[in-house]
Amino acid sequence: MLNIAPARQAEITGPRNRVPDYIRVTEPQPVVLAYGIGVDSTALLVELESRGCPPDLVLTADTGVEKPETYVYQEMMSAWMAARGIPYETVRYTPRRFKHWPPYFDLLSNVLTNATLPSISLGRHSCSLKWKIAPQDAFLKEWAPAKRAWARGQKVVRLIGYDASPADTRRYEHASSIANDLFECRYPLRKWGWDRAACIARIEAAGLPVPPKSSCFICGAMKPDEVRALPVWCLRLIVLVEARAAPRLRTVEGLWRRSTRTRPGRMTDFIRAEQLLPPADIDAIIRDAPADLIRFQDAAAHVPLPDRPAMSEWLATFNAGLTEAV
Ligand code: SF4
Repeated sequence: MLNIAPARQAEITGPRNRVPDYIRVTEPQPVVLAYGIGVDSTALLVELESRGCPPDLVLTADTGVEKPETYVYQEMMSAWMAARGIPYETVRYTPRRFKHWPPYFDLLSNVLTNATLPSISLGRHSCSLKWKIAPQDAFLKEWAPAKRAWARGQKVVRLIGYDASPADTRRYEHASSIANDLFECRYPLRKWGWDRAACIARIEAAGLPVPPKSSCFICGAMKPDEVRALPVWCLRLIVLVEARAAPRLRTVEGLWRRSTRTRPGRMTDFIRAEQLLPPADIDAIIRDAPADLIRFQDAAAHVPLPDRPAMSEWLATFNAGLTEAV
């Protein structure tokens, strides 16, 4: 390589800020795929990789209460990406102010602490904003390629796996109406005209299993069949969440909000009617667990934060109750 002193370089090309536009090379915008570990974003990832243009980064926000089979699928896809050299990061919202509460680090502990339900069950979407969108934005604000792009006056390209189905069209129309100075959202599945069936076919053609429907296992958007498929330890936690929030619920009955012709407003009633848990276990959780949790919180309030037991410790004891019952 020819080494030329900066002063000599300037003699040849002129000062940097006087490089003519026609020889100035622009760095490409960094591309990030928001990976929800569901069918659509998996199909998008597989197709981009096969076209030889994988994202610069794949990013997942973990609420800490995804369905167990989603975590299994995530592990498999993490290895799939690593084998192909695709950078993959998982991020999580980190609460910092606990006042007198036991510290908590996932959405389940968050709602148990506040004796409430995930906000989707209350007709809002702040659980998704807080536990999914915000931690991804916070990570990207510190991601070096993003910072360099913003310094150049570019936006970061964010790939979103909305497909061409009517349901995702509504989500797309809402999302695309929101202006953003930092990110340029793109929707390749919609450009390709892929619906959910096409996404499933693409995943199968790649020789991969089709991912389960991804969501938190305490999400009010779950269908009855999704609840039926949950393991017992998740069902017990659903009963706990509803029992803990019950005294404060005014406008909704439970995680499913209000009863319809096809299902009750409380998932606990569904779990009982379908005999997914023994009635005695459901009754014991409703009778004992919320009071025990409040005693734990009251005791923890007197402990300085560095030594204060975390909510996860109480949950470990609660989950151990299942082992003892078995
Ligand atoms: S999956 Fe449901 S409960 Fe979880 S963050 Fe999203 S809307 Fe909230």
